[in-house]
Amino acid sequence: MLALGEERVSELIRTLGLYRTKAKNLIALSRILVERYGGAVPRDRQALESLPGVGRKTANVVLNVAFGEPTIAVDTHIFRLANRTGLAPGKTPFEVERGLERITPARYKGHAHHWLILHGRYVCTARRPLCAACILADLCRYEEKTLAAAEPPQRGLKARSGSRR
Ligand code: SF4
Repeated sequence: MLALGEERVSELIRTLGLYRTKAKNLIALSRILVERYGGAVPRDRQALESLPGVGRKTANVVLNVAFGEPTIAVDTHIFRLANRTGLAPGKTPFEVERGLERITPARYKGHAHHWLILHGRYVCTARRPLCAACILADLCRYEEKTLAAAEPPQRGLKARSGSRR
């Protein structure tokens, strides 16, 4: 990463939002990983969160995906979904994270945040949630849910299995 340099990294990730800031952070954190951690990503929340551009959500993603820890990263989709459904209401992402951790059975914690992100991104969308096509409609406590407006889930659930963070 360091050998590529900020300009090249910036070109490679230019389809992402805020790519210039992200490229800058990637170079800075790569330098720290090489200088302080022998080029390895630390399995430690505090160390992760001290890296440029890395907050609690990203640290949770790394701990979960790279190290298999049962963390739940709360992004904008999960925050919305947890509050709308009543699954784990909270005023802050941290409150929602704590709520989801409490109610998610241990055997599902490995993938829970991926499933929730995908549901939030493609079904329980911010402006027009697809309640009529939602598998959770009978359980969801969202007062404004509209079961009349039948519309199939958006493209991409099968084709795009990855998740942006
Ligand atoms: S019923 Fe509607 S508001 Fe509730 S989770 Fe499904 S899409 Fe979201």
